[in-house]
Amino acid sequence: MSVLQQIRTILRPGYRVAAVSSKKYSGHAEPITNGYNFALTETQKEFQELARKFTREEIIPVAAEYDRTGKYPWDILKKAHAVGLMNGHIPEEFGGMEFGVFDGCIVAEEIAYGCSGIMTALEASGLGQTPVLVAGNHEQKKKYLGRLIEEPLVAAYGVTEPGCGSDVNGIKTRAEKKGDEYILNGQKMWITNGGVANWYFVLARTNPDPKAPASKAFTGFIVEREWEGVTPGRKEINMGQRCSDTRGITFEDVRIPKENVLIGEGAGFKVAMETFDKTRPPVAAGATGLAQRCLDEASKYAIERKAFGVPIAHHQAVAFILADMAVGVETSRLAWMKSAWETDHGMRNTLAASVAKCHAADVANKCATDAVQVFGGNGFNSEYPVEKLMRDAKIYQIYEGTAQIQRMIISRVVLERAKQLA
Ligand SMILES: Cc1cc2nc3c(=O)[nH]c(=O)nc-3n(C[C@H](O)[C@H](O)[C@H](O)COP(=O)(O)OP(=O)(O)OC[C@H]3O[C@@H](n4cnc5c(N)ncnc54)[C@H](O)[C@@H]3O)c2cc1C
Repeated sequence: MSVLQQIRTILRPGYRVAAVSSKKYSGHAEPITNGYNFALTETQKEFQELARKFTREEIIPVAAEYDRTGKYPWDILKKAHAVGLMNGHIPEEFGGMEFGVFDGCIVAEEIAYGCSGIMTALEASGLGQTPVLVAGNHEQKKKYLGRLIEEPLVAAYGVTEPGCGSDVNGIKTRAEKKGDEYILNGQKMWITNGGVANWYFVLARTNPDPKAPASKAFTGFIVEREWEGVTPGRKEINMGQRCSDTRGITFEDVRIPKENVLIGEGAGFKVAMETFDKTRPPVAAGATGLAQRCLDEASKYAIERKAFGVPIAHHQAVAFILADMAVGVETSRLAWMKSAWETDHGMRNTLAASVAKCHAADVANKCATDAVQVFGGNGFNSEYPVEKLMRDAKIYQIYEGTAQIQRMIISRVVLERAKQLA
């Protein structure tokens, strides 16, 4: 049963989205018929409301407990799957709703408002699927994306290794062609959903020549969790987003059929990097959701808490902290919207995606620190929500390209443009 049908038929009462039309949701390469437009469509508003209601009712009440225990949020994911809040970007022909990146970002921002750890568990599955979406053939999409529609399963994206993350060119995991198969050996590190995914996108070196350019040296594979030789490591205990599952994975003589190569030998680096153009906007949207939560929590507290006989919001120094937070939230939102809009309209959005990811991650961290400040001593205590937000925020400056790597990408484009001006 397709997700669309699921939404129409098995939604719990109260979650039903009226007049769902995947065509209306799809932002793919539609003609640009107007100028600047900051309005969501009616169906986007409905879907935003669905995600908001889901977050309010299913995520916020349990977020602190998932953070405390570090338990993987399967219960939430199953419900999200049932109401159509997962895998929206999968094409209709494979059972999905063919959402644009923009539509997915709307959901990501709402979920992250409730718990960015749960959002990361969801989003990492999207990250694992995106190489298949952008580079998979019909059979690969049908088999691996279709599977995620049928059941509440998740995927993962395996590129980082113990020895290298930012410098993707340095990866050592290798795959050797033997007949109709590739034999995969190596180790990945920090893989979100590493222990719970049904299948992984794995980037491996297929050209043994260390001087081979990145554009030819690597190949992208779809690797199933249950294949012999695939061993996820222990769940890592992280500073924040603690319910998301981060692990190393060891591959030992894993036999991959040649049918599981994406595009062809040597195309892996391009596939892995192009993926980020579609996945950085949702990460930026998640960071925006977290920043919005910081602003809301701090504002409510500033109205209630009194010092020197008045609510602390009446002290201009506190009110201006809130104002600066609001500036950050608004600009982060505009940035993810532009980067998502560009890719949905078939434009190269590498710059906009890096600007959005870089800015929203910094804003989330600033807002989280400021929210703790507004809460004073209570902000430092786990009985209040903002210390979790501060721990959760940090990862936005690290995964999917660190703050420094985003600035490298941005400055490269800026300098390239400057050369053309000279
Ligand atoms: C919780 C979590 C989840 C993750 N999920 C995934 C996942 O699902 N899949 C996956 O493949 N990876 C994942 N990662 C890995 C993540 O993408 C990497 O940690 C990140 O890219 C940085 O790589 P690194 O840790 O090796 O740091 P390094 O690359 O060693 O960088 C260390 C520091 O040096 C800086 N630096 C490095 N090179 C430069 C440079 N040229 N110029 C300036 N500064 C530089 C970095 O910005 C950073 O501050 C995850 C990581 C974490 C912690």
